[in-house]
Amino acid sequence: MKWPKSYRIGYRIMRLVSWDRDESRAADLAGRTNTGWRITQYCSDRAVCEQANTILHEVIHNILTTAQYDVGDDTKEETIIQCIANGLCTFAYQNRHLWRKLGKAVRM
Ligand SMILES: [Zn+2]
Repeated sequence: MKWPKSYRIGYRIMRLVSWDRDESRAADLAGRTNTGWRITQYCSDRAVCEQANTILHEVIHNILTTAQYDVGDDTKEETIIQCIANGLCTFAYQNRHLWRKLGKAVRM
């Protein structure tokens, strides 16, 4: 899967780049985001559905950062974000038509 090279969260444009497999394994992460550097990395060595989940996960982190919402507990934040990312992936898969329509509707 060829992903776009960037995405936008509010006024912020984030670069979306592949992350070296060995580095991501060493960090025990599938992705990471540095909001200050405006970069999101994902491990392109994983299955495409895992890459999608990882990108959504990092986007949700960015949404919270942009909204200046602090969950207050990093472990709890990770759990909440993973639940939402997993749910959105499942929803998008099970409701492809509605997912596309939602994407079109928010542009109107
Ligand atoms: Zn996370």
